[in-house]
Amino acid sequence: MKLEIFPIEADKKKPKPDWNQLGFGKHFSDHFFIMKYDQSQGWHHPKIEAYRPLTLDPAAIVLHYAQEIFEGLKAYKCQNGAIHLFRAKENLMRMNRSAKRLCMPEIDIDFVHSALKELILIDQEWIPTTSGSSLYIRPTMIGTEPTIGVKASSEFIFYIIVGPAGSYYAEGFSPIRIFVSDQFVRAVRGGVGEAKTGANYAASLLAGQEAKKAGYSQVLWLDAIEQKYVEEVGTTNIFFQFENELVTSPLTGTILPGITRDSVAKLAQNWGMKYVERRISMEEVTEGANSGQLKEVFGSGTAAVISPVSELHYKGKTYKIGNGKTGPVAQKFYDELVGIQYGKKPDPFGWIERIN
Ligand SMILES: *Cc1c(COP(=O)(O)O)cnc(C)c1O
Repeated sequence: MKLEIFPIEADKKKPKPDWNQLGFGKHFSDHFFIMKYDQSQGWHHPKIEAYRPLTLDPAAIVLHYAQEIFEGLKAYKCQNGAIHLFRAKENLMRMNRSAKRLCMPEIDIDFVHSALKELILIDQEWIPTTSGSSLYIRPTMIGTEPTIGVKASSEFIFYIIVGPAGSYYAEGFSPIRIFVSDQFVRAVRGGVGEAKTGANYAASLLAGQEAKKAGYSQVLWLDAIEQKYVEEVGTTNIFFQFENELVTSPLTGTILPGITRDSVAKLAQNWGMKYVERRISMEEVTEGANSGQLKEVFGSGTAAVISPVSELHYKGKTYKIGNGKTGPVAQKFYDELVGIQYGKKPDPFGWIERIN
C-alpha cells in the first residue's frame, strides 16, 4: 500500500486557536489520514488530505448499530523542538484487539504508525507549546456498509484526526469530585467493556449527566454483577493509595486496559512501591476514607495523565479523600510521566519515540 499525500495550499490553512484557551477536543488540524476497506481490496487508497466532512450513506451500519472503535494518544512538543510520541504502537495494537471484538478488520500497525507520523509532521504547527498542552490524536474506525440488517459491516473507513489540546479537565491539574454510580453500569462480563468503542460511552451518558447535576465531574463505575467492586472512571482507570499499598482493579474483561495504567504500574514497580492488582470493594474504600487508611485516589488516562480525586459520593454520602488536595503519590506519577513525555526526564522503558 502506498500512502498518497495531498497537502493543502498555504492560503487554505485554518487560523490556529489561542493556545491558552484550547480546552479538549474542540479544534482540529488542516489534514487528516483516511483509508477504506472492502472485502475484495482489503484496506486501500490510504491518503493524507484536507480535513473535511465524511460522506456516509444514511443506512451506514455505524449509524444504526454502533460498529465503531477508536483510540486516543498524543504528540508532545519538547522545549528543544523534538516531537515525541508516547507508546504509540501500543495504542494501535489495542485498536486491533478492539477491532476483533467488534468484528472489524485489523489494521497494519507499521503502516498506520508511519502514516500517523507523516500526518503529525505535516500538521506540526498545530502542536501547541503552552505548558501541559499537546496534539491529541484520534484514530477511528467505522462500519460504512449501507444495510439496515443487523450484521457486521463488510465496508469500513479508518481515519485519524489530530488537534491541539490543553489540559483535559476544566479545573486543570486540581482534584476532581467523583460520583459513584450504584444505579447504572458501564460494562458487564462478556460485553465490550475492554474494547475502546463508542458504544461503552453511549451507555455511560445518562449516568454522567446525573453526576453533573449533582455537582460531580465524573462517574466511578462498579462491577455490573454485584455492584460492589470498583472498576474504572469515565475515561480513566483508577488507583487507590492505601497506607501500605497502591491498588488498582484487575483487567477482568470489563475495564479498558489503559496504557497510562500500565505506565503507572511499571513506574510503581520500578520505584519499589508495593503495587497490587486486586478487586477493591466500595466498603473497603469508604472504610479507608473514614479511618484515614486511604491516603489518595487518582485516575490515569492519556487525556488527563493523572487526575487526583478529592471526594467520592456514594449512596448519598460524601467521602473526603486525604486533605482534598493533590497527594504526593499522584503528583509524583504525574511529574514523572509528563517529564518523560516532554523529554525532561530519562526514559528508561523506551516509551518515547522522536519523530522529527
Ligand atoms: C481510553 C480509556 C482509558 C484510558 O486509557 P489510556 O490508554 O491510559 O489512555 C480508560 N478507560 C476508558 C473507558 C477508556 O476509554
